[in-house]
Amino acid sequence: VPSGATQLTAVVGAPIRHSLSPTIFNAAFAESGLDWTMVAFEVDAERGPAALAGAQALGIRAFSVTMPLKAVLAPLVAMSPAAATLGVVNSVRIGPTPEGDNTDGAGLLDALAVDVGFVPADQRCVVLGAGGAARSVIAALAGAGASVVVVNRTPEAAHAAAALGATVGTVADVAGADLVVNATSVGMAGTAAAGSLPLDPAALRKDQVVVDLVYNPIRTPLLEAAGERGATAVGGLGMLVHQAARQFRWWTGTDAPIAVMRDAAMARLQHRG
Ligand code: NAP
Repeated sequence: VPSGATQLTAVVGAPIRHSLSPTIFNAAFAESGLDWTMVAFEVDAERGPAALAGAQALGIRAFSVTMPLKAVLAPLVAMSPAAATLGVVNSVRIGPTPEGDNTDGAGLLDALAVDVGFVPADQRCVVLGAGGAARSVIAALAGAGASVVVVNRTPEAAHAAAALGATVGTVADVAGADLVVNATSVGMAGTAAAGSLPLDPAALRKDQVVVDLVYNPIRTPLLEAAGERGATAVGGLGMLVHQAARQFRWWTGTDAPIAVMRDAAMARLQHRG
């Protein structure tokens, strides 16, 4: 229950009602004994600047930022190097000078390191997709010394994403990869491509790590296929939790209770069905 001293944070974007962020962050605040809370505010692109000014006036501590505000708030804050590279923020620490960060790509690297011991330096990585998630992953992998190939349905987007430190390739590159990341929305529940695979699983090998950024459903067709081929299959929940954990540490100065955050997200996804 909020008190007179409760510190408020918010996830902002539109649509927002299905966001997992309040579930994940409120579990973390409670576990850590912090008198902090997170609510969700539906804010469209046009009202993004007013929302930031209002948050400053109210003393709201931080925003977790989702579409379509990631690019809208970026020019209004002092950006970290990761955010400046991408030109988008997923986290804002609010104060007289608001600061913005982008923890998505680093969140994936944390998940890979912690969950399967994957170290990107000198590894051959194929990223399927060239949207917002793909761009954060490409920049993080390239920044960590991996060689990165981008494969995308629309070539223009692939070339734009490759400017972050990758080359443009084809699905044939999957055969020679150490790490394969599905950063397309193929396989995501509730879309036309639900139940579909982003590649022919015959290309997958047992010594590869295969990541699906799609986390709804938790077991995607790609993860099932990768498992059947003997590859190490990593779901998208790890990235979701670790990017939130980085925001939590940045805002509160407290270590994030990762397991509790993961359990809360998992329970919510399973309940959602
Ligand atoms: P986005 O910006 O809309 O990009 C979508 C990407 O998927 C584009 O590259 C698009 O290709 C491709 N795509 C869509 N439908 C396709 C199809 N039928 N066949 C081939 N390619 C297709 O979306 P996003 O924000 O990057 O998110 C992508 C996925 O990652 C979503 O499922 C999202 O839930 C997930 N995600 C997970 C996390 C996490 O923490 N685990 C974080 C962010 C996003 P074109 O360029 O050709 O359109």
